[in-house]
Amino acid sequence: MQVVSPDPANPAKAAPAEAAHIQEILDEIYEKYRNLDEGAVATYIPELSKADPKDFGICMVTVDGHVFRAGDCDKEFTIQSMCKPFAFQMALEQDGVAETLKYVGVEPSGDAFNSIELDARTGRPFNPMINAGAIVVASRIKKLPVETGVRAFVEKMSNAAGRELRIDEAVLESETLTGNRNRAIAYLMRNFATIDEHVNESLHQYFAQCSLLVTCQDVAMMAATLANIGTNPITGKRVFDFQFIKYVLTVMLTCGLYDYAGGWAYEVGLPAKSGVAGGIFGVVNRQLGISVYSPKLDAQGNSVRGILVCKELASHFGLHAFEFTNVGSSFMQWLL
Ligand code: GLU
Repeated sequence: MQVVSPDPANPAKAAPAEAAHIQEILDEIYEKYRNLDEGAVATYIPELSKADPKDFGICMVTVDGHVFRAGDCDKEFTIQSMCKPFAFQMALEQDGVAETLKYVGVEPSGDAFNSIELDARTGRPFNPMINAGAIVVASRIKKLPVETGVRAFVEKMSNAAGRELRIDEAVLESETLTGNRNRAIAYLMRNFATIDEHVNESLHQYFAQCSLLVTCQDVAMMAATLANIGTNPITGKRVFDFQFIKYVLTVMLTCGLYDYAGGWAYEVGLPAKSGVAGGIFGVVNRQLGISVYSPKLDAQGNSVRGILVCKELASHFGLHAFEFTNVGSSFMQWLL
């Protein structure tokens, strides 16, 4: 457990005094939940069942590049549904808001991640955070041949994480072999011409996105890149077009936690996204990226320890978007 200086090449540039206090709180929360053993590792994608249920990591990255860590922050796991906000960002960057929203809505469905349901009026999936919407988004950003679109996604995610990432081929194969429900959703949408005729290529893009290997620290860095209006706080590389980030954060806040999205917004109040491999991340606009990894899931498919840790962090640091102690956007403070 350590505080990492924003400039590892220059250890003299030490973290500020508050950093020690933040680290203390992180360590306390880690210890509190370290031995909690509730929930179950996802098994419906056979390769995911191999995860070590004891793994537990918490990482926070500030927009000025401080990294706070506790536990297993370097262990790789697949990003799963946490790819969805980033893919949505890519679709918005590629096609703009109006064109993208012709194919996917931004309404919370309050349904499970794999629900088979389209908006009766438009034939669109309700939002890009459930599988149907994410498959639409994948169909928009895929390229032919398929390797090109997957490579573009991996490259974007690598820039957000600040290191080179790769696909877990075993998980990709496992998803492809067992993803019949996603295949059914995709063909239903093909029936309504919501996606184009390259159905298998769209599914490949989606499965590959879900199979990206990340660590808890990678995800916190990606979250901090969103918080830092699109620029990676450590590398200084501009990764995301800032004009679309508010849309991505909004659907994360309203739809990111599936059928627990309302309860989450109410209790934690942060844009967030979870994945069935046990990852969850949250974004504190203009301030912080948070990530937790713990593979055991609750009935809604969210990491048990992940949810508890995020609740604790939000209450300790006053992170809820509408918390009276939350000073809000530092941009506004700058203007005042
Ligand atoms: N690849 C998973 C699926 O589509 C992602 C689900 C999730 O992480 O919620 O079934």
